[in-house]
Amino acid sequence: MDCGSLALKGGWVATQNADREILKADVLIENGRITQIGEVGSADEVIDVSGCAVIPGLINAHTHVSMTLMRGIADDVNLEKFLEKTFKVDAMRTPDDIRLGAELGSLEMLRSGCTSFVDMYYGQNEIAKAVTDIGIRGFLGWVVLDEQFTTQKGSPLANCENFIDSHKGLERIHPLVALQGVYVCSEDTLLKAKDLAYRKDTLLHIHLSETRKEVYGHQASTGKRPADWLHDIGFLCDKLLAAHCAWLTMDEMRKMAETGVSAAHCPVSNMKLASGFEAPIPEMQALGIPVGLGTDGCSSQNRLDMWGEMKTCALLHKAQRLDASVMSAQRVFDMATIEGARALGMDRELGSIETGKMADLAVIDMKHPAMVPTFQNNLISNLVYSCQSDCVLHTVVNGRIVMKNRNIVTLDEGNIITRAQNMSEKFFL
Ligand SMILES: [Zn+2]
Repeated sequence: MDCGSLALKGGWVATQNADREILKADVLIENGRITQIGEVGSADEVIDVSGCAVIPGLINAHTHVSMTLMRGIADDVNLEKFLEKTFKVDAMRTPDDIRLGAELGSLEMLRSGCTSFVDMYYGQNEIAKAVTDIGIRGFLGWVVLDEQFTTQKGSPLANCENFIDSHKGLERIHPLVALQGVYVCSEDTLLKAKDLAYRKDTLLHIHLSETRKEVYGHQASTGKRPADWLHDIGFLCDKLLAAHCAWLTMDEMRKMAETGVSAAHCPVSNMKLASGFEAPIPEMQALGIPVGLGTDGCSSQNRLDMWGEMKTCALLHKAQRLDASVMSAQRVFDMATIEGARALGMDRELGSIETGKMADLAVIDMKHPAMVPTFQNNLISNLVYSCQSDCVLHTVVNGRIVMKNRNIVTLDEGNIITRAQNMSEKFFL
């Protein structure tokens, strides 16, 4: 789609390039791509962003966006009780409310400067409609599990393949193969899903070692921990993005590094569900595993807020290790941007502000009370430790302004909110 040219003038650009440069520069966007960083002349649309920071759009590396209609439905329980409740609600869902949940979740993400999300759910054809209409970028994984466990009509694997075939190549839609987890996926299902991802050249996404119960249960039935077992059956590969990774041994992490697996760390969800305090993220990063940051679904997080996720990530690891330097602001900001893109195999296209890349950006108001004082040398710290969603002024996805001066310009936000409130009532009765 040709959106014309757009110039963001006079801001501080947190490029997230290889040198992590922060530049006082204009950014020119043409045909959905960043074409110039520096002093820019005229453009079809010019926005004065002086007093603002221009950052790469944040990447939410793991969520279930449609579950936003289930916010607050199963709090203060562990994962097993949580899944019992949410599976029951999942079975009641209709195409309309799946789409509406995705619209509501996308609103929340766009308002926070998040421009891409990785999703795992069924009904992705409905979610894709919401993504198309609202203007966000979706990495949409149709969830696959053994047929005996699913509420989907037909074979989950065939549904996934159909979804990929009908959506590959559409603007801002990146279909992929998702798997619920080893507790509902046999070796046969896992390997067929991997084969599908290779045949269609898509990302492969799974929940991995989220809880001790998952690890011990798998050990009891197979004699092996989940990541060890997935390695031995030949499932681990460089297309795989594994969410959670809360309970891994060094040996498992080495196998993941050797096979090119990436991870999505979801600290808030892990803490809230009391799934684990132990996610060995610094060790994974030391092994070179790309680690992105994900909110997980709204029914466990309860927000799709990457700012909260970033700050929590930093605090969690510092507190756990008694080491304030173990998870720096720069490292966490990397996870939400360029490392997140690397985890998705998209670092040539997304995650930094560099010429030639897709124009997914957010503009942060540095005059917001929560951001004052900001200078070049504390900008990244303020982004990670102080920034919040209402500091985000504009959000640009694929070169198109989706939020301008905090107004969503693509869909009627009030209408989505009213319908979401009404439509979700049935889940709470
Ligand atoms: Zn999840």
